Amino acid sequence: MASYTLREVRQTINQLWDESTAAGWDRVGLAIGNPEQPVTHALLAVDVTRQIVAEAKERGADLLLTHHPLLLRGVHSLAEDTAKGSLAAALIRANIAQIAAHTNADQAMEGVSAEIAHRLGLNNLEPLEPGETEQTGIGRVGELADPLPLRKFAEMLSEILPETAGGVRVAGSEKQMVKRVALCGGAGDSLLNNQRVLTADVYVTSDLRHHPAQEALEQHLVAGGPALIDISHWAAESLWLATAAKQLGELLPEITITVSEINTDPWVFRV
Ligand SMILES: [Zn+2]
Repeated sequence: MASYTLREVRQTINQLWDESTAAGWDRVGLAIGNPEQPVTHALLAVDVTRQIVAEAKERGADLLLTHHPLLLRGVHSLAEDTAKGSLAAALIRANIAQIAAHTNADQAMEGVSAEIAHRLGLNNLEPLEPGETEQTGIGRVGELADPLPLRKFAEMLSEILPETAGGVRVAGSEKQMVKRVALCGGAGDSLLNNQRVLTADVYVTSDLRHHPAQEALEQHLVAGGPALIDISHWAAESLWLATAAKQLGELLPEITITVSEINTDPWVFRV
């Protein structure tokens, strides 16, 4: 079976999502694996969970490439009665390497937020916070070809996302018109006061909590600002996996690349 070394695969991953462009607090790149080990099959997923590791084993994958890092915060033990220790041990025993492309994939030109923007058909895209070039950076803002009432826009957004228990939650009036759309894949409440967010008609992101959302909406009543839409963190970021797999496949034609079909949204039902 054809293969590359993990070192070669990591270099290729770096061509697409340069580790050096990740945020200072982030921990991207290789977390588990020997650079000389062969890679024949990469499985792509948003998260490293027990279910995803089991899926990687079942599929015979020897690399798990995820959006979220396995080890973002410091750990002081890999004991297997800890979640991180148990996941790391399972990967090592199965000879599965693990690499994360997180904020380096968020800010890429064809990265996580750009993917959501493309699926919504937004034009004239710009990042919310520019990165190294004008086309890269965190979040995106762009325009719909034809304005839509907020309710219709939310319905369109719901259609491009995989189904989740939380669905799509909207703060705003159903009839207000939306043309300029700001969005940020993942948890984007730190950008609620971003100038490009404030001048958009709607801001789409994930993990919006009561106080930041309510305070932003009250501020918008006195100074103007967008409607807010809260979507599943997993659903938003999972859209990027297919594009990532395609880009990687073009650079690594000798190996199998698959995208996980497991929903790792923590919320599984609503009553
Ligand atoms: Zn995320």
